[in-house]
Amino acid sequence: MANRVDNCIFCKIIDDKAPSEKIYEDDDVVCIKDIYPASTHHYLILPKKHIVNAKELKPTDAELYDKIVCTMERIFEMQGLDPSDTRTGFHWPPFNTVHHLHLHIISPISNINIIKRIMFKPDSYWFVSVDYVKSYLRANM
Ligand SMILES: [Zn+2]
Ligand SMILES: [Zn+2]
Repeated sequence: MANRVDNCIFCKIIDDKAPSEKIYEDDDVVCIKDIYPASTHHYLILPKKHIVNAKELKPTDAELYDKIVCTMERIFEMQGLDPSDTRTGFHWPPFNTVHHLHLHIISPISNINIIKRIMFKPDSYWFVSVDYVKSYLRANM
């Protein structure tokens, strides 16, 4: 798939031009381990298409977005994560880290340290839920 951005670390990871630990991959998405895990399990789901952030999702990305959410559920099963003790979400601009859309999956919540708890605070101005993004996307269709 084309649409790579040269200086994007996640595009490089997707193309295997930068090291990562991939735990899942298909035609549309990749799931990697976060290099700075905030808890026992910390994964990132990246669409192979370079989308800058959740706010930049277009109506034409709706199918891809659903794919990301399905993959999240798949990772829950693969890794035996308890959804009720797992934090998931997206950075919301301007509070991005890497400028390539990624969904964080962090589990268990009880193991997240205090600093990261703030960074990944649910439904804050800077970290939003899967459902929030979904309704944002729907509202812009
Ligand atoms: Zn990228
Ligand atoms: Zn991040």
